[in-house]
Amino acid sequence: MTIFEGALQQLKMVARLVKLPNGLLEILNKPERVLQLNFPLQKDNGSIEIVRGYRVQYNNSLGPFKGGLRFHPQVDLDEVSALAFWMMIKNAIVDVPFGGSKGGIEIDPKHLSENELENLTRVFTRLLAPNIGPTQDVPAPDINTNAKIMDWIEDEYSQVVGVESKAVVTGKSIGNGGSLGREKATGLGGFFVLERLVEKLKLKKPISVAIQGFGNVGFNMAKILYDNGYQVVALSDIKGGICNSNGETFNVDLVKQCREEKGFLAGCYCVGSVCDLARKYDGVINNEELLELDVDVLIPAALEQVITEKNAKKISAKIVFEMANGPTTYEADKILSKRGIMVVPDVLCNSGGVTVSYFEWYQNMHVEKWNFEKVNNKLKQKMEKAFDEVWRMHKEKSVSLKTAAYILALQRLAEKAKFQ
Ligand code: NAD
Repeated sequence: MTIFEGALQQLKMVARLVKLPNGLLEILNKPERVLQLNFPLQKDNGSIEIVRGYRVQYNNSLGPFKGGLRFHPQVDLDEVSALAFWMMIKNAIVDVPFGGSKGGIEIDPKHLSENELENLTRVFTRLLAPNIGPTQDVPAPDINTNAKIMDWIEDEYSQVVGVESKAVVTGKSIGNGGSLGREKATGLGGFFVLERLVEKLKLKKPISVAIQGFGNVGFNMAKILYDNGYQVVALSDIKGGICNSNGETFNVDLVKQCREEKGFLAGCYCVGSVCDLARKYDGVINNEELLELDVDVLIPAALEQVITEKNAKKISAKIVFEMANGPTTYEADKILSKRGIMVVPDVLCNSGGVTVSYFEWYQNMHVEKWNFEKVNNKLKQKMEKAFDEVWRMHKEKSVSLKTAAYILALQRLAEKAKFQ
């Protein structure tokens, strides 16, 4: 089953539990618009490479399309469609006035010079310009894209339309209309949800966590959890990870410092040597092993489809807290559920990013500048409200948190869906 097929399977399963208006399921089964662009990238040596980019605009019943832009060699139409679908669900759950979209370019930006990266971004923006805009479709950063890239998009788009259009993208640099608090928003939003869950389940601290991914989401989540007394016992990035299951937490600040010096995490820093896996691998574990550690909370925060039918039986965590998009496949989710492992869904956990993106868009549209306190307080309110609504549905209908989240989203979409 592909990622997008898995997402639709989830939709089909939940649709059986909700009374949907006639035709809505059919509408939600397909994206409204799919753009596939093949365009030339001029390299610094004068050669031309044809690259492929996508923008999938899934549904805009709740407002302008909204979703990130990813630069990664494995980007394809199936993945972008699934990510756009999840954006639609996520925006409905966290109750921001946006529909769902997503985009990507099939490229490894690590092999590009700064000049090539800027060219790539600007050409793609020119081609997308007729289909994006502050009230049409608003991109944002995702894997391998950042504030600088968003600034280039804003600048290129504004030049094309001849009007300064800050609200065409979110996740910009602060000096260029970005919102305070956006960089950490996904991690902080996840933290607010996790704290609420800990309260509901009456879990006693210290709580052990293992986090896969040490980028924007993984690092910020690790840092916030560490600062708030959680035991961060395993961390990883693309090259592998470090583990410390003797009960001590890593000092996330030191890990970050070390990673900056070495360029990767594996073998970077290990407190104690009681962890069997760490001993076996001389302080280093790989990404598969990290997922199987016996911790209270496992946080996948890198790529999708890392918990599958193959390893779901080996997951030992009590809670899987999905900070990446789609880290657990549809089949794996069923296995985890049978085994009594609680999965807290991505569409709830990582919606802090799009929430502060909405705040940024709102500030740009109303020419306002909010301070950190205002942004973070509003984020906390939004995340706690979304969690409480999902939790209530989970209890009322005796369904998993994922199913509850989807029911809530479908109910909101059903209220506003356009049929003509
Ligand atoms: P990022 O590019 O900043 O970081 C990605 C991290 O994952 C890096 O540490 C990288 O080394 C690691 N990684 C890459 N491939 C891996 C692999 N095969 N195994 C293990 N680790 C691997 O990206 P990000 O913004 O932190 O996004 C991470 C996830 O969170 C993605 O699924 C993204 O869609 C999702 N997400 C991000 C945001 C956001 O605001 N950035 C919001 C919502 C969801």
